[in-house]
Amino acid sequence: MKALRFENGQLKLADVAVPGREGEALVRVRVAGVCNTDLEIVRGYAGFEGTLGHEFVGEVERAPGAPELEGQRVVGEINAGCGRCQLCRAGDSRHCPARTVLGIVGRDGAFAEYLTLPVANLLPVPEEVPDERAVFTEPLAAACAVTLRARVETETRVAVIGDGKLGLLCAQALKATTGAGVTLVGRHDNKLEIVRERGVRTVRSEELPASFERAFDVAVEASGSPAGFETALKLLKPRGTLVLKSTFHGKTELNAAPVVVDEISIVGSRCGRFKPALELLRRGAVETDALITDEFPLSDAPRALARAAEPGVLKVLLRP
Ligand SMILES: [Zn+2]
Ligand SMILES: [Zn+2]
Repeated sequence: MKALRFENGQLKLADVAVPGREGEALVRVRVAGVCNTDLEIVRGYAGFEGTLGHEFVGEVERAPGAPELEGQRVVGEINAGCGRCQLCRAGDSRHCPARTVLGIVGRDGAFAEYLTLPVANLLPVPEEVPDERAVFTEPLAAACAVTLRARVETETRVAVIGDGKLGLLCAQALKATTGAGVTLVGRHDNKLEIVRERGVRTVRSEELPASFERAFDVAVEASGSPAGFETALKLLKPRGTLVLKSTFHGKTELNAAPVVVDEISIVGSRCGRFKPALELLRRGAVETDALITDEFPLSDAPRALARAAEPGVLKVLLRP
């Protein structure tokens, strides 16, 4: 089968064997999405080598021990734990020290015709959610996971910094799941407009009104830039919570004084569970169609990644 591999610092489309992992499901990929994490891996993040890609919708070809899944359209949670350690037994394979992560850590990913995952990672996609929306389940689950790390209620004032894919999904997910007042801070009118219809207030970062300073309980940094980090600190009330959502490759400089003086809590947030995200997609509560910029066949995968790295481009899809 065809697969987009990253090996020895090189990205290339290769012919490889259909994967097989003892006891795991075999899934035929229908659509995959290119994520910033894929681009970061190509720049050296996580030291991963193998088939890239972790956002996908597929069809189950084989599911040992779960014949009811065979032929089903599914999405798949990307972390596979060892199943034996204390964290795994408590149901948190996301932090298992021996985990593999689809297309990120020790496990070939979704930019291929087939992938394997444990049966327990797979969730059937509701019929009313088309592939082009279901492919957003993974990033949307990551967006929903913000509320696992910061308390957000109806009265909470939340600022999301960054109008890329992640920021657009975080702002919408927070609005849809909590009803909180959510403001998205970004640089691009055409992107900010996407979430305005979903009840999210928007403001351009260069036009932040003075009244926004120290006005927010929670700030979500989704821009991946030091400037976004600074903005988040400026917007937070004393004792506010700064949620770091972007994976940086390299180091971030931190001006620690305001964190100490204002007693800011800084928390990291990574992946989330898929079920709430699928439910948001089923309800049509989140706009994703407007986030798709382009689509390529898998045979054009290197070009798709180059396209995804261009400024202003949101989601790029790959179709085997
Ligand atoms: Zn991703
Ligand atoms: Zn484990």
